[in-house]
This record gives sequence, C-alpha cells and structure tokens, in this order.
Amino acid sequence: MVDLVAQYRDLQPQLEPALLGALNAAQFILGPNVQAFEKEAAAYLGVAHAISCANGTDALHLALLAADIGPGDEVITTPFTFIATAEAIAYVGAKAVFVDIDPHTFNIDVEQVKRAITPKTKALLPVHLFGQPANLKPLQDLAHEHHLKLVEDCAQSFGAGISGRMTGSIGDVAAFSFFPSKNLGCFGDGGMVTTQSDAMAEKLRMLRNHGSKVRYYHDIIGYNSRLDEIQAVVLRAKLPNIDHYNQERRRVAHRYSAGLNGLGLQTPFEDGVGMHVYHQYTLLTDRRAVIQEALTAQQIASAIYYPVPLHQQKVFASISQGASFPVTESVAERCLSLPIYPELSDAAVDEICGVIRQALNA
Ligand SMILES: *Cc1c(COP(=O)(O)O)cnc(C)c1O
Repeated sequence: MVDLVAQYRDLQPQLEPALLGALNAAQFILGPNVQAFEKEAAAYLGVAHAISCANGTDALHLALLAADIGPGDEVITTPFTFIATAEAIAYVGAKAVFVDIDPHTFNIDVEQVKRAITPKTKALLPVHLFGQPANLKPLQDLAHEHHLKLVEDCAQSFGAGISGRMTGSIGDVAAFSFFPSKNLGCFGDGGMVTTQSDAMAEKLRMLRNHGSKVRYYHDIIGYNSRLDEIQAVVLRAKLPNIDHYNQERRRVAHRYSAGLNGLGLQTPFEDGVGMHVYHQYTLLTDRRAVIQEALTAQQIASAIYYPVPLHQQKVFASISQGASFPVTESVAERCLSLPIYPELSDAAVDEICGVIRQALNA
C-alpha cells in the first residue's frame, strides 16, 4: 500500500548524517531533536504546544487524561475508525458512545452526535478519517453549548487544513500518530499531542514522563511515553516536506478519480470545507471481491479499512449492546482502499485503473 523505501532514498543524503549526529550526541531520551521537533511541529500546525509521546494510541490516551475525562463519562465517537480511538476512551474508564457516519466523507455525522448527547457526555472525539477533516465547526459549536471537550484524532490528517487552520489546532486537544505509514511517519512508533492550553500542556508533559516536572519528584501518576531522539531526527527531516507529500497524495487521488470515472464506483468525496490529504484513497463498490482478485493477480496491493466497525467488535459487545449503524455497516461492506503514497507515479496509477476497468468489464 505504501513504498517507504522510496521516501527514505530521497532523504538519505541529509538524514544519515543527522542520524549519526544523534547517535554520537547520545542524548536519547527527551534530547535536543525532540525539543526542536516539538517547536517546529507546533509552529507548522499553529498551536501553542506540541508534546511528543511514544505513539498515537498513547497520544489519544494522554489527551483524554489531560481533558479530565474519566470513569462515568461518555465520549461520543465514530465506529468507523481504527480501534485505538475507542481503546483510549476505555483506558481512562470512560464509555465510548458510537454514532453513525456521513455516507460521503465517512466522518462522524453531526446530526447523530446531537442526538447522542446526554448529561454524562464529557467529550466529542471526531476522527479526520483517511485524511479528510471532520466537520469541526458544528462540533465545536455543540461542544461550547454543552460544555464538552473537543478532542481531535489527527492520526491520519497531519497537514490537513480546515477553514484556514490545521487539524489539531481547533479542538481543546488533539492526538497525532507518526506510525511509519502515516502521512508524516517515522522509523518506528511515535506520537504527539497538541493543545492551545498552557495548563493542559503542562499536565501532558508530566503525564508522558512519570508524572514528573522535576526529576525524581512525582506529582501525579504518569506514564513512560516519550518520543525517542532517533525518531525526532527522522520527523525533523520530513516535516519541511509534508505539504509537498500531501500535494503528491492529492495528485495520485485525483488521477485515480479521473481514471475510475464512469465505472459505477463511489470515488472519494471532498466536502470543500476541509483540505483532504488522502492518508487513504478509499472507494465504495458492490463488486469489491472481483476488483481485489484482479488487483492481487497483478500483484497490486489493496486493503479493506475497516472490515469490522467498532460497534461490531467482540471487545465492545457490552457497550454496543447490538446497536446498528446502517451507514457504517454498508460502508464497511463496500469499502476498498488502493495504494497511495507521494512517490506513486502517474503511470502506476493508470495501470491500477486499467486493471480495475478490465475487472469490471467496462
Ligand atoms: C494509526 C491510528 C491511531 C493509532 O496510532 P498508533 O501510532 O499506531 O498508536 C489512532 N487513530 C487512528 C485513526 C489511526 O489511524
């Protein structure tokens, strides 16, 4: 689905000396590159604070803790996302309340969110799925009206903008992942939390480092969740290229959509409010198996994100209690993601479109 070697080759001349520099400096935990990356990422995103951590799942967990979400609280989120979104809600002892998605963007449906708000609701947790910003303005209004925290899951949306701002700069707190295949990926696990709040930032810095502000003095129960220096070097090398990477993803996506036109597929919809950065290029089709078989026969990758919505996962059976979300279920049965990454050539995209066209006998 992605070619991580291509991006490494491009960066090799500047990256390898920087990595060797970090190895020789040997400040591996919360070293100078981590500090510099946090400053650079905060400036890029337009936030007051960026606090790096060990991975995107931890970023969500720490973000919810910083927002004071805990036992007895309800957090409204989407069932059409990676499991980590809802796992983090469970980690803090709160209850994930799933609501259905919009059939075009696959993001959380604001009308459904409205109906799910109860006196126990403490936060809204939209995901900018596949790189398309969720419809944040009405969610922000709802959050203000009902005194809820707005927590953004930006794991798939680094560099995606909405109304002149970046995802991750609008909610009370936001979580990012630098898993290797994300739009901004490192060479292992990595994550980050962003916020405009000085108080939350201070708490987040303690939470990721054993609840400590001053070494060996511990004020709260925290965690060992830090980004390491080597990953920070990689992220600093890639950050200046992120707009270019995202533009190249958009080039690939638009070429797919043109090449697949007229085949009766639902190609990705851009809502015109946010700038989609295509972490995934995901279409809907009633003939998924036929297409996947044809692609596999040509050794072309494809993937189903996500085959089982969260409300149908065994682990969430008790909180879902047989609830049904028709849009999510229909999308899960028909979605298919095609290879997408900045270095994917026009010729390769055309070839993939040709294989799909042939498979559908069009
Ligand atoms: C990848 C991802 C996460 C988790 O990130 P990790 O770094 O893998 O822990 C959370 N939410 C979403 C939507 C993701 O895609």
